[in-house]
Amino acid sequence: MLQNHPQATVLVADDSATVRVLVRMQLESAGYDVVEAEDGQHALDAARGGQLDAVLLDVEMPVMDGFQTIAALKDDPLTRDIPVVFLTSRCAGEDVVGALRAGAHDYLRKPPDPAELLARVAAAVEVTALRGELRRRTAELDRMSRTDHLTDLFNRRHLDESLQAMIASSRRHTLPVSVLLVDVDHFKQVNDRYGHEAGDIVLQAVAASLSDAVRLEDVLGRWGGEEFLVLAPFTDTGGALTLAERLRTGVAAASIPTPAGDVQVTISIGGATAVAPGTAVDVVLRAADEQLYAAKEAGRDRSAVCQVS
Ligand code: GH3
Ligand code: MG
Ligand code: MG
Ligand code: MG
Repeated sequence: MLQNHPQATVLVADDSATVRVLVRMQLESAGYDVVEAEDGQHALDAARGGQLDAVLLDVEMPVMDGFQTIAALKDDPLTRDIPVVFLTSRCAGEDVVGALRAGAHDYLRKPPDPAELLARVAAAVEVTALRGELRRRTAELDRMSRTDHLTDLFNRRHLDESLQAMIASSRRHTLPVSVLLVDVDHFKQVNDRYGHEAGDIVLQAVAASLSDAVRLEDVLGRWGGEEFLVLAPFTDTGGALTLAERLRTGVAAASIPTPAGDVQVTISIGGATAVAPGTAVDVVLRAADEQLYAAKEAGRDRSAVCQVS
């Protein structure tokens, strides 16, 4: 069953003004928005410039004929997916086959039966609507596959990818990149004392506090459990320490309301700055982990950052 997409825009490309007016009237009576083009070049310009849901394409036209036009449409990623319905009096078998081979969605003989014209345009427009829906769902799935459910921050998968990309780019541009590993202090005690649900609320609040403190170009995510990771591009050891202290003091200052009572936590941060010509990802992570261990050993609620090269 075809859905109605009356908000859809259809391009009618034909060198005959009579055909254009006739088809326009039929399409507009069905609720479509109609754009006209008098030759192939104008059709291409219209397709590149706007959101078209379908194209009705004449074959014999000046400047660029229908076959040249569809070739150009299919060649451009911007216009490749717009369904093209040929509308022509040339209807030998090889014309139809040639059109479909060139990527046409459908083929209509002139003059088209009004009901058939509308049905075939509706089918073409439906293809565009379904493709848009598929694109939206794919984007949403991609977002979900990179997001941590509890905190809404990026998850480890996204952090892994970003870290690889950032280290590679710092190598190319001879710029430092810093990695901060953040761990909530004595978090097991928070769970034991306030319950796991309150623990979850505390993790969400810590995530929000870290999120407030990072810069737009930093990548913040949940590394796992009560650990977070910050990737800070263009950031040397001094900058990393400043950032770490901003994260640390932000969390320490917060009183987090939970149904089991207000909770205060501290975090410890271990950081490593990779300087050009670049360091392996696992070397940077191991160095940050060692700094974190040192910060814990030194009494927690503190930051330690080193440089690796
Ligand atoms: P330290 O200061 O040495 O880091 O001590 P800690 O207690 O924070 O460290 P430990 O690794 O012993 O405990 C981490 C705790 O974090 C244990 C685990 O149950 C808890 N945890 C991990 N993920 C979650 C979660 O999603 N929700 C809750 N509520 N707790 C979690
Ligand atoms: Mg013509
Ligand atoms: Mg931990
Ligand atoms: Mg911990």
